Amino acid sequence: MFPLPHLGICVILISKSCRKCVKHMKLDTKCLHAGYTPKNGEPRQIPIIQSTTFKYDTSEDMGKLFDLEASGYFYTRLQNPTNDAVAARIAALEGGTAAMLTSSGQAASFYAIFNICSCGDHVVSSSSIYGGTFNLFADTMMRMGIDFTFVSPDCSDEELNAAFRPNTKAVFGETIANPALTVLDIERFAKAAHAHGVPLIVDNTFATPILCRPFEWGADIVTHSTTKYMDGHASAVGGCIVDSGKFDWNAHADKFPGLTTPDESYHGITYTERFGLEGAYITKATAQLMRDFGSIQAPQNAYLLNLGLESLHLRMRRHCENAQAVAEYLEQHPKVAWVNYCGLPSNKYYALAQKYLPDGCCGVVSFGVQGGRAAAELFMKNLKLASIVTHVADAKTCVLHPASTTHRQMNDEELVAAGVGPDLIRFSVGIEDKEDILADLQQALAVL
Ligand SMILES: *Cc1c(COP(=O)(O)O)cnc(C)c1O
Repeated sequence: MFPLPHLGICVILISKSCRKCVKHMKLDTKCLHAGYTPKNGEPRQIPIIQSTTFKYDTSEDMGKLFDLEASGYFYTRLQNPTNDAVAARIAALEGGTAAMLTSSGQAASFYAIFNICSCGDHVVSSSSIYGGTFNLFADTMMRMGIDFTFVSPDCSDEELNAAFRPNTKAVFGETIANPALTVLDIERFAKAAHAHGVPLIVDNTFATPILCRPFEWGADIVTHSTTKYMDGHASAVGGCIVDSGKFDWNAHADKFPGLTTPDESYHGITYTERFGLEGAYITKATAQLMRDFGSIQAPQNAYLLNLGLESLHLRMRRHCENAQAVAEYLEQHPKVAWVNYCGLPSNKYYALAQKYLPDGCCGVVSFGVQGGRAAAELFMKNLKLASIVTHVADAKTCVLHPASTTHRQMNDEELVAAGVGPDLIRFSVGIEDKEDILADLQQALAVL
């Protein structure tokens, strides 16, 4: 018998005893052990519970699950034991109290906001975010009646505070933004969010909890595209939401009626009353949003994600070491016009990176070559080891020229306005031997 199907929707929050037993573990150990402890004779690796549904002896037993009165699984569109074990591991890495996996990073961003926002509400977001997230916010969610104000991550405190409205429900930003590579001043944004009675949601995809744990700086909710470093092997699309359990929804009950007043679609349960501050947010997202939208991660993908997590600490260290070497090499190369990497002392975000990312600045470097767009295309064509893909944050070095691929519908002027100049090359440094990566860059630059 597998040990997993005992959690379930009523105890989706990571149990106190479990939190206590992983608390003493170092981060590297958590990558391998948090979230799943097999008992005598049980599988060493997290089992894939490849089942859409779960069997009960009586209808009465099952009825209690639907009312959130008993714990247990009933249907994989809402919850699956494999997913919950992997989510618990990520929660432990981030230092949170509850977590859920989603089918993609996009689903995680959408759920994270929509769980506390309805039509007529408003969100303050950093303008320096992933393009897909920007489309989700500025187009799709705007059409749902949720308004967004975008502020520069470098805005003054006055500008930041001026962005709030009485109907603001959250603040959103990325630790290290994709692709602009700006660094969010998490403490400053958290302070502003809390002064206005709303939580700070941080997309921690590029940093991962190995390099930065936003909860330690005041963030309340963390999201991930696990598709990137967490999976790390370009094998499974996925997302995750983690709750710190620290935001006091009750102190701002009028702003968050979905959490603090009875949910009629769940027999009048009040999430904060029933599941406490540590469980209310994720339980609501599971019971309502997963039930209605069903963007669950496949258990098979959760299994692959977990394999990635087991080496995340080793890979992140190597990504950072290699990327630092690549950035330093490029910065002194005469054919390189500019380099953007917050691990370089010349970088605008160096001081923030020293504070929030003391162990490294992830593996993504962007730069431009002398000669602009044409030279960038020629350079890319000549790379041998680095592969041209739209992906980033992979074990294998990969590279993208947005102007001729993902952003090709834009003219040069629009590209500059979007912060993705026609010469920008996004270089995602892998975990190969850095001598081979540097040699590849050297030979491709020599052609220019
Ligand atoms: C890729 C990415 C996303 C979207 O994730 P998907 O898994 O592709 O849906 C969100 N945020 C950041 C920072 C990303 O890099």
